[in-house]
Amino acid sequence: MNIALFGPPGAGKGTQAKELSKYYNIPHISTGDILRANVRDGTELGLKAKQYMDKGELVPDEVLIGLIRNRLSESDCDTGYLLDGYPRTIPQADALTDILNEINKPLDAVINIEVSDNELVKRLSGRRSCACGESYHVMFNPPEKEGICNACGAGLYQRDDDKEEVIRQRLAVYNDKTKPLIDYYDDAELLVNIDGSGAVDVVLNDICNIMDKFK
Ligand code: ADP
Ligand code: ADP
Ligand code: ZN
Repeated sequence: MNIALFGPPGAGKGTQAKELSKYYNIPHISTGDILRANVRDGTELGLKAKQYMDKGELVPDEVLIGLIRNRLSESDCDTGYLLDGYPRTIPQADALTDILNEINKPLDAVINIEVSDNELVKRLSGRRSCACGESYHVMFNPPEKEGICNACGAGLYQRDDDKEEVIRQRLAVYNDKTKPLIDYYDDAELLVNIDGSGAVDVVLNDICNIMDKFK
């Protein structure tokens, strides 16, 4: 099954993708996680990306398109993939269509997780992240031990871009550059809207009901 999870920052894409990836046994491809790993490792890509990420801006399309092309051609994508955080612009979506046609793995669905702006700000400002890719929330989804990742035992941190001013900027960038993809994928008859305001398990169940159709 070939799926893209879509939605504004804080909608719950990463949280859902972690569960879905285990359940359906398909790779979770988070461009944000890949970029952050590069920033941590101090790679050339990481150094370039960091200046945009810190400001809540998008990293340039050509960087992301190259990155996603390489990742999708890895063999673990043979049985499917779950995209999280890509595409975020029309040029990224156009490039994705070309890449997926080349490797003969077209999208089955784009699942749009809908959450109100108020709720997004609450979710992002309380988010605590782990280097392993897990994320928690101080109130809505706390780890078993405060400040420690359930999955790997590492210490949790607050992302630099989860501070209030950067959050506002990211939501503005989403509205300007990314939201137009809703019409784009609706026109392509791939869009499925999901109410993302409920509890994690409720949203997960709704997404599984859609993904089961593509098993
Ligand atoms: P995204 O990947 O879309 O930016 P995350 O999955 O990281 O979003 O979720 C953002 C924050 O909201 C995290 O702190 C996460 O624990 C929390 N969260 C995710 N889903 C829900 C939910 N259904 N209800 C409440 N909080 C949630
Ligand atoms: P969110 O929790 O906001 O969904 P991500 O972890 O997906 O955040 O992305 C964090 C940052 O990484 C973005 O603000 C942006 O700078 C960069 N980024 C991730 N994916 C992309 C993409 N597809 N295009 C451009 N920039 C990206
Ligand atoms: Zn962890």
